[in-house]
Amino acid sequence: MSMPQIILLGAPGSGKGTQAARIVELGYNHVSTGDLLRAEIAKDSKLGQKLKGIISEGKLVDDQTVLDLLKANIDLQKGAYIFDGFPRTIEQAKMLDEQIIQTEKAYAIYLDVSFDELVSRIVNRRTCGKCNEIYNLVNKPPKTEGVCDRCGGELVHRKDDNEKTVQNRMDVFKGQIEPIFSHYEKKGILRRVDASINPDTTFGQIKEMVGR
Ligand SMILES: [Zn+2]
Repeated sequence: MSMPQIILLGAPGSGKGTQAARIVELGYNHVSTGDLLRAEIAKDSKLGQKLKGIISEGKLVDDQTVLDLLKANIDLQKGAYIFDGFPRTIEQAKMLDEQIIQTEKAYAIYLDVSFDELVSRIVNRRTCGKCNEIYNLVNKPPKTEGVCDRCGGELVHRKDDNEKTVQNRMDVFKGQIEPIFSHYEKKGILRRVDASINPDTTFGQIKEMVGR
C-alpha cells in the first residue's frame, strides 16, 4: 500500500525536526525548499539561473517560483514526501493542493503541544556551550547544576529563550498556522498528534497513521 503524503506542522519546540528525521526512516523523502533551492542553483538549470537572479537582487522568491521548484524535483507517483516548513501561508497551501498533491492521499499532521508547555520547554532549555548537548531543567536536568554530563562544558541559557521572546514567537506562529489549520480541517485531512508526552509516543502515533 502506498504511503500518504505528509504535510508536517508544529510550533517551534514541538519536536518537528526529530519527527521528520524518524519519518524519513520509514522511506519518506524530506522536502526542504531551502535545500532544493540551493541544489537547483548548483545544477545551473534554467530555473536555477532564475532563482540565482532573484536572490542576488536580494528579492524574495515568489510563491509560484517555489512551486515550480517543487514540481521540478518531486514526483508523487514515485514516492512519498514530507513537506516541512512549507506551506507557511494559506495561499501556499492552496497552490500545493492544486499543483502538486492534487488527488493524492495526504495528511496534514500537527504536532500538538499546548503553548504553555512549549514556553516552559524553551524557557527551561540549557545548551552546552562546548558540545551543544541540550538539557531541560524540568525533563532532562544535568547531574551537576550548570555542567554538561557529557563533556563537562558550561551550560548556557540562550538569551532569546526567555518567556517574553518565546511568547512572541508563539503568537507569530499562531497567526500563521490558524488559517492553514482551518484549510486542512475543511478538507478533512488534518490529523492532530499528541506531542506532549515523549518523542517515541509521538512517532508511534504517526507510524500507525501512515500504516507502517
Ligand atoms: Zn557538553
